[in-house]
Amino acid sequence: MKVIEGSLCSLAPLRFLCDEMLSSLAQWLRIAGYDTSLPAQGAQDRQLMEQARAEQRWLVTADSDLLEFAGAPFYVIYLAGQGEPARLRELTLKLNLDWCFAPFSRCKNCNTPLHTASDREKQQFYPHAPDQSEETVLACATCRQLYWEGSHVRRMRSRLEKMNTWRNKSSSQPSS
Ligand SMILES: [Zn+2]
Repeated sequence: MKVIEGSLCSLAPLRFLCDEMLSSLAQWLRIAGYDTSLPAQGAQDRQLMEQARAEQRWLVTADSDLLEFAGAPFYVIYLAGQGEPARLRELTLKLNLDWCFAPFSRCKNCNTPLHTASDREKQQFYPHAPDQSEETVLACATCRQLYWEGSHVRRMRSRLEKMNTWRNKSSSQPSS
């Protein structure tokens, strides 16, 4: 993929639309903090292209048919790798993607920005959650998923850090 002047590469922060085969990869983008949509079920290729264009998102796809569309060089990132680890690495290298952009600022299930859960919310929606009184607990207002620094979140953080070691250090941009 060429990085084209004036293309979405120049937009910050990066935004994505993943095809439905890449829903798990989309979750990693959300965990890293990127605004990442998934298409409505059964959406046609043309609808994906239109959504990407309208919402100014990179369309990340494992479907080479999408490369045939006009404007594809500006909007489509085609991942040729087989399996998720190969595709994650390929995407990292193509965009020099920072996986520690804003970890746990978005819900991995539904892309909603997370907020700090109030005590009342915790009691109302998560009565069986372990006592988190000393820790910040993040919550999704849409699907009610709760995030706190338990072992699961720690594992995901260390995976993000590991994926960042794939980046090309010499061309990385200073983060603001
Ligand atoms: Zn959610």
